[in-house]
Amino acid sequence: MKKIALHTQIIIGLILGLGVGLLFVQLGLPAEFVLDYIKPIGTIFINCLKMIAVPLVLASLIVGVANLGDIAKLGRIGGKTIAAYLSTTVIAVTFGLILVNVFQPGKSLPTSTRDNLMALYDSNVTSRTSAAESLKNQSPLQPVVDMVPENIFAAASNNGSMLQVVFFALLVGIALLQIPAKKGTPVIAFFDGLNDVIIKIVGFIMLLAPYGVFALMASLIVEITGEDPDSALSLLLALLKYSLVVLFGLALMVLLVYPLILKVFTKINYLDFFRALRPAQLLAFSTSSSSATLPVTMKQVEEELGVSEEVSSFVLPLGATINMDGTCLYQGVAAVFIAQALGLDLSISQQLMIVLTATLASIGSAGVPGAGLIMLIIVLESIDVPAAGLALILAPDRILDMFRTVVNVTGDAMVCSVVAASEGELSEGASPLVTKK
Ligand code: ASP
Repeated sequence: MKKIALHTQIIIGLILGLGVGLLFVQLGLPAEFVLDYIKPIGTIFINCLKMIAVPLVLASLIVGVANLGDIAKLGRIGGKTIAAYLSTTVIAVTFGLILVNVFQPGKSLPTSTRDNLMALYDSNVTSRTSAAESLKNQSPLQPVVDMVPENIFAAASNNGSMLQVVFFALLVGIALLQIPAKKGTPVIAFFDGLNDVIIKIVGFIMLLAPYGVFALMASLIVEITGEDPDSALSLLLALLKYSLVVLFGLALMVLLVYPLILKVFTKINYLDFFRALRPAQLLAFSTSSSSATLPVTMKQVEEELGVSEEVSSFVLPLGATINMDGTCLYQGVAAVFIAQALGLDLSISQQLMIVLTATLASIGSAGVPGAGLIMLIIVLESIDVPAAGLALILAPDRILDMFRTVVNVTGDAMVCSVVAASEGELSEGASPLVTKK
């Protein structure tokens, strides 16, 4: 029998979970069964995701920075590339935040559902209130102070201190570039190997995803509906709205932002760009992995767009590790959606914190399926939204992952073309596909 693709399995898990949850509610079957025997599978799935977050950031970020090679030699290209990657990432998360604040997909939940969710996910409302109180007395520079760990092992043992881990990983990556290659190479090779090990483990965890999603959906429905089956429907509607907001934002990046940037900085016609990149985009969609797509992205960019190998072999691997516009946009929308669904109002400074943390989190996300979801924990913890709220958006996540990976890959190729054009490394008439004026 032909094996069913993982994303299809997850969709099946999602639908079955929904069905079983609704069945229990409608037929008045004992909710304890779902909570005692089905929910734990979902909890194990979430714990696996959390378990892998710290090592994932450490390894992928250290390797990403160290892959820059020799900073002095690549300084100019490196500077341009990083500036372009950072600005497109910030544009993406800003778009996400604007859209989620305008459409407010999480606010459509009735208060009763929201209260149920809040009771489920927020065991420590009081500690939050007192944390908010003490925040008022803090220096405005406290968030910067908080980025610097006083003990890296302590930071690495707490998923809430991920930003400190990011800070440390960046330092290690930069230092690795500046010590003699003889000493640096084995260390880079170690983290490179570790990165592969972690990516493999993420692959294992994703195998659990259909069952995890099934369990989470079934228990979510049973838990939130309680006496009121209508609230399940309102949660589904809110999830649908949330997914549409993410998709709308992603479409804006691909159909508006990227064509504009390409038009300003290169002579490449956007339709040609799109046509040249199509195989990579399809692969990104079906694998949900920018890393897996990388070889095809490089081939297409070099052969069809005429980018020199020197530029593409530096800009694209870096992009597959650190530049994730789609992921960043999604993290912004997801974080605010979860806060809205839990009835938490986010201040302007919390939203600015999202811009910062989502940018860093997307840099730290590996180019593998589900990585963006794990890194969303950093964003949630930084704005004091319970990380367990992740469960809310898990169901549609695998599908959104496919779309955001397409945007991640397209963004990398776009920046690569811009850097190549600015360096005069874009050959004319590389392909019959591309018409340069
Ligand atoms: N799957 C995405 C990628 O590989 C990362 C993520 O957002 O999960 O680009």
